[in-house]
Amino acid sequence: GLKAGIVGLPNVGKSTLFNAITQAGAESANYPFCTIDPNVGVVEVPDPRLDKLTEMVTPNRTVPTAFEFIDIAGIVKGASKGEGLGNKFLAHIREVDAIVQVVRCFQDENITHVAGKVDPISDIQTINLELILADVESVEKRIDRSRKNMKGGDKKYAQEVEVLERIKEALYNDQPARSVELTDDEKLLVRELHLLTMKPILYAANVSESEAANADENPFVKLVREYAATEGAEVVPISAKVESEIAELEGEDKEMFLEELGLEESGLNRLIRAAYKLLGLYTYFTAGVQEVRAWTIRQGMKAPQAAGVIHTDFERGFIRAEVVAYDDLVAAGSMNAAKEKGQLRLEGKEYVVQDGDVMHFRFNV
Ligand code: GDP
Repeated sequence: GLKAGIVGLPNVGKSTLFNAITQAGAESANYPFCTIDPNVGVVEVPDPRLDKLTEMVTPNRTVPTAFEFIDIAGIVKGASKGEGLGNKFLAHIREVDAIVQVVRCFQDENITHVAGKVDPISDIQTINLELILADVESVEKRIDRSRKNMKGGDKKYAQEVEVLERIKEALYNDQPARSVELTDDEKLLVRELHLLTMKPILYAANVSESEAANADENPFVKLVREYAATEGAEVVPISAKVESEIAELEGEDKEMFLEELGLEESGLNRLIRAAYKLLGLYTYFTAGVQEVRAWTIRQGMKAPQAAGVIHTDFERGFIRAEVVAYDDLVAAGSMNAAKEKGQLRLEGKEYVVQDGDVMHFRFNV
């Protein structure tokens, strides 16, 4: 499965947020691919389309799709030099597919700030600098190695050095590796370096309980938004404290609490959806009378690989897929109506699955 890692300086609200995630927790029996580990929280992806399909098909059960959040504690100034948990911490970041950076935007005199005062931009820069420094080290090492290999005359190494020099320059200018424009071929060349600043990032701006409903009026949140805009990154304002309280409630109690707070939905739901998008994921559905279910694929996956997410046999024996776009199905009102309108398509091995496709696979066993 794909994973998003939660990072942030000490005392910004990471554990509070992560506890809310595990409290809200998914039934992990439904998700055998997920890791059972105290630092891993499995979240279900809220998706109104799944509710609509459930209404239409009235199956025995409905299963949302899920992914994992990893709690990566321990970043401090100097981590790239081995301070704090240092390198161990950075190794954990290498394994995630996207980064959620929690930033402190709440004021509370009783809770110490590691840098002495609430200053989210400085916090972001502190963390991002550690990630950049770690990448400088990886890139420089690789450049040295590739220069030696270049002497063999293999063009690949010359090209690699050229790309890495461009990335190095960006890093030296305090810019993340993801800011460097690369062709698909160039991306492949640098992929195995697992650069930390190549990973997509979003900022979770943690505001106090009283600001949960109008977080955007918090001046720190405004600053974080301005900063993130320069990087093309997303910001999700959230009150970790409030989320940990919401996560303990269910059903009507939860609805009532949200209403009291003036929230349409939990911040956690918004964060989950934003992280899902950040990971570059799409959802397709299967809709049978037994089960209506959402499945996660990477953007660009073809029908057989998408079928393989359900079961490897589906991929191996793939014959074709019956596909109807979610919007068409809903507009038609039922699977049969969609069929009559000619909206149920037969697609083969080369079909690139679209977000919201409702699919039925035919396969040989
Ligand atoms: P971490 O070190 O980043 O994991 O931070 P924690 O989640 O442990 O939070 C540090 C302290 O800040 C704890 O005492 C939390 O209760 C408190 N805290 C977290 N979020 C908020 C918030 O929105 N408002 C207030 N007042 N305190 C918070």
